[in-house]
Amino acid sequence: MPLDNFQRQIDYLRISLTDVCNLRCVYCMPEKMAFRRPAELLSDAELFRLIPLFARLGFRKIRFTGGEPTLRDGLVDMVRLAAGLPEIGQIGLTTNGLLLDQLARPLAEAGLTTVNVSIDSLDPKRFREITRWGNLRDVLAGLEAAEAAGLRVKLNAVPTRGINDSEDVIELARFTLTRDWQVRFIELMPFGNNAGFQTGHIVRESELRARLEAEYGKLELLHGGRLDGEARLYRLPGGRGSVGFISPVSSPFCAGCNRVRLTADGRLRLCLLRDDECDLRELLRGGADDDRLEARIRAAIRGKPWGHELDKARIPVSREMSEIGG
Ligand code: SAM
Ligand code: SF4
Repeated sequence: MPLDNFQRQIDYLRISLTDVCNLRCVYCMPEKMAFRRPAELLSDAELFRLIPLFARLGFRKIRFTGGEPTLRDGLVDMVRLAAGLPEIGQIGLTTNGLLLDQLARPLAEAGLTTVNVSIDSLDPKRFREITRWGNLRDVLAGLEAAEAAGLRVKLNAVPTRGINDSEDVIELARFTLTRDWQVRFIELMPFGNNAGFQTGHIVRESELRARLEAEYGKLELLHGGRLDGEARLYRLPGGRGSVGFISPVSSPFCAGCNRVRLTADGRLRLCLLRDDECDLRELLRGGADDDRLEARIRAAIRGKPWGHELDKARIPVSREMSEIGG
């Protein structure tokens, strides 16, 4: 399994399948977003070559993301390929859920294990305002389809101050009373163009916890406070599922980081919040053999930065979140 220079084992790859999205969430991308030309993105054939190579290197978990990964035609085949690799134990998808109604079953049949659906409000009007044109009903239908298909369901929400940081947080957490779902609140992070938005809208975990405790009573800390992936988990009194907080800004979890990201245009991005990248597309298109690719990936992973330096005002500027994949 690849190790970095800090002796962290890196075995989790997040693959962005496209930078294109069918929504424009206000905290993620501008309304008039310019997307890359298709030729700039890794082709299906290039991904079909890289995924087994990462498995051979010691990667055990894969997540497909984007942009919106369900917009990529080859998604189900990509999941099937990954599921067929004996080394890969978990395959996840992060999606806005709009197309999940149709896709949940084929994805589950292809071997998808978990789906993380992003949903920032249960109020149709506010949902539309945040996503700029999304229809909440489609996402709710997608969630039902995911559950019916037997997928493990997690919800992702990004609370933003003054927009969806009170009633929405309470209502989203309510799902966990009756469903065995994990509802995770992700702290707003600064990227490129949205850095100004982040400054005024970030909401701290402590505020959200206090709001939930005022509504539901004392939250029970799960797993002794150990992180589940990047989330600290709690249970509402009498709840079935769990509520998680992912707080990379106020409580960084860099010490336990086990992941790298492959951007849709073929860069291995070593830390979500740092601009260090290694260009795999150039090697692929330049005719590199597997040994050369593997050596390059191992070397890049060894140089993975320790973590972000947001506290020193070092903000990633080269890409938006939607281009990296979250
Ligand atoms: N389109 C898919 C979706 O929305 O789930 C996948 C890509 S999206 C970039 C992945 C996750 O990143 C979503 O849960 C989204 O809410 C989150 N996200 C986007 N911009 C963010 C930011 N600036 N800070 C924190 N989370 C962000
Ligand atoms: Fe699209 Fe996801 Fe970004 Fe929203 S968060 S604009 S759905 S990529």
